[in-house]
Amino acid sequence: MRSSYMRILLLEGAMLAMSFQLIAQPVRCAAASRIEPPQFSYGNLNMRNVQHFALVFHILYQDSSERLPDARIIGQLQVLNDVFNSPASISQHIPEEFRKLKSPAPFRFCLASIDPNGNPTTGILYKAIGDPGIACRRENGRRSLMSSSLGGQDPWDPVRYINVYVVNRDRCPAPGEAIFPWDANAEEDGIILDHRAVGYSGDTGKNAPFNLGLTLVHEMGHYFGLLHLSENLRDCTGDDLVDDTPAQGREYFGCPEGKQFSCGSSDMFMNYMSLADDNCLQLFTTGQVNRMRSVIEDYRPTLASQCPLLEPGGVFDEIGWAYDGAYWLLSGKEGSCWQARVDLFDSTGKLLWQAPSDCYGHLLIPDPHSGFPGGIYYAKIYNDQHLRTLKLINR
Ligand SMILES: [Zn+2]
Repeated sequence: MRSSYMRILLLEGAMLAMSFQLIAQPVRCAAASRIEPPQFSYGNLNMRNVQHFALVFHILYQDSSERLPDARIIGQLQVLNDVFNSPASISQHIPEEFRKLKSPAPFRFCLASIDPNGNPTTGILYKAIGDPGIACRRENGRRSLMSSSLGGQDPWDPVRYINVYVVNRDRCPAPGEAIFPWDANAEEDGIILDHRAVGYSGDTGKNAPFNLGLTLVHEMGHYFGLLHLSENLRDCTGDDLVDDTPAQGREYFGCPEGKQFSCGSSDMFMNYMSLADDNCLQLFTTGQVNRMRSVIEDYRPTLASQCPLLEPGGVFDEIGWAYDGAYWLLSGKEGSCWQARVDLFDSTGKLLWQAPSDCYGHLLIPDPHSGFPGGIYYAKIYNDQHLRTLKLINR
């Protein structure tokens, strides 16, 4: 057993090697555990019990390219939910030898709808920053990014919210990083992403190869206690503490073709906890899902069930909108009724107007003044089963 101190030295050595490699090959992740990661022996976990987690995005930007629109964040949420809930049967791209190991993780993610003070929120916060150096700076042992007094933004209560920070990480070793649950505290917890790695941008230029939204999937794995399969070691002594992932003596970049071997076995380089490109990654294993469930139970026990609003769908999907210069008309299919509350936000996330819970066939969102100023607005339509956010535009 290596000592914790030894592990940190080894990891920091690996990190140096990773940042050096960045010159030739982009490296996804800079997560590093400060202490020896804990091992778990798994009990009978109830896999049918879906857990819901609320995310808050802190977007710290210098210019408009870094100030990601809500649509990118909502798209990222979709990727996260699709990947974690992907049924084991969708496995045609996974090498046959690993197909039976794939497991969905019964987690659902939503944007926070209530802030720590009990007020409605879009779950997406924007803050202009003057100093790009705060992305990776530490002052007195604290991450500047996660501290309002150091130029960043304090996380929301991390026992209730998953805090995701989005910033330009050009000066950091890698686009993604997560704080392991055993290293987290009330002041520092969450995930940090480079703005280019957020969401399904599909951009094959500056955002490639991390352009399909999988950096957050990988970092969420760390946030729930998963490790790299190689544990950043090259001598096959690295152990990710999961039984059904093969030992791996190296990390993979790009997307290798065909089988790859190390440590006497075929490597699972297409695992979400690999450093390979977004278009290469295909699965979490049952062992990894069990480890995440155990870590959540032990380290993040109050985090689940923070999504009062569940999934899109149902009659909400039929609602359309029109603007006539003074109000918006939201209308469903003729004769249908949607039982909902409606909140109207401006593009900064400020709540402008609310409609009480009722059964609506159509709903007017009136402006008491002379029409809404030109711009983008969001109507959040929700009840205890469904949520839909409509983007409303007044040109
Ligand atoms: Zn990683």
